[in-house]
Amino acid sequence: MRRPLIAGNWKMHLTVAGAEALATAVADAVASLDAVELLLAPPATALAAVSALAAPRGLSLAAQTMHWADQGAYTGEIAPPMVREWAGYVILGHSERRQYFGETDAELGRKVHAAFAHGLTPILCVGEGLAEREAGRADAVVLGQLVALDGIAEQEAARLVLAYEPVWAIGTGRACDPAEAARMMALLRRALAERFGSAAAEEARLLYGGSVKPDNIAAYLAAPDIDGALVGGASLDAPSFAALARAGALRGALQQEASP
Ligand code: PEP
Repeated sequence: MRRPLIAGNWKMHLTVAGAEALATAVADAVASLDAVELLLAPPATALAAVSALAAPRGLSLAAQTMHWADQGAYTGEIAPPMVREWAGYVILGHSERRQYFGETDAELGRKVHAAFAHGLTPILCVGEGLAEREAGRADAVVLGQLVALDGIAEQEAARLVLAYEPVWAIGTGRACDPAEAARMMALLRRALAERFGSAAAEEARLLYGGSVKPDNIAAYLAAPDIDGALVGGASLDAPSFAALARAGALRGALQQEASP
């Protein structure tokens, strides 16, 4: 049974004091929830402070990106062992990293391997742009981005979190039609099964991301292959994030009831 995961990507927002205040408000608002995993991805400068505060309260932590090398002359980057001090997850290949910082699938493949090698769980983001969707190439684009998973072991694939985030839906308020998101997720799970076997594919968690809000999350979580959400804007507001968390917890509770 896959535990639902609601992940908040704070992007380049908040100083340490602001991040601590938001993490405290989130932790207070979700304190009674179980059956759902909640994850915060603050900026790297606030990772230590938020981790110290939120991890003891049961929240998971992620870095928003990292380098693949253990250490070295890579000014401005953070290395996997540095992330591992404070977080169990790392977001890789967010479309903003691909678009503004030129991250390639080949680089992401190295990062995915580095994450697993250091005991981090990668949250690999895939998603097509608007022109690609309009040209009927959405399926081919996201399946192609799975090249970043080449060479990972079956047991690593089982731990993977894969986020389908159509680029045109991120931060635009134009969320993907839930039925289409469900179709893309089923496509991705089949692709994982073909590569890594059905047992691993059944364990990997698939998130939808792109303008997820409290009023639309239930429609995504109703799909059997959507195990949660990767959330940008709505994660910066504690009551909104808590509402998303409650939807995830409801999904988790229903799953538990339904399981033999
Ligand atoms: C994101 O940045 O991954 C994202 C999905 O953002 P938003 O929820 O704001 O669309």
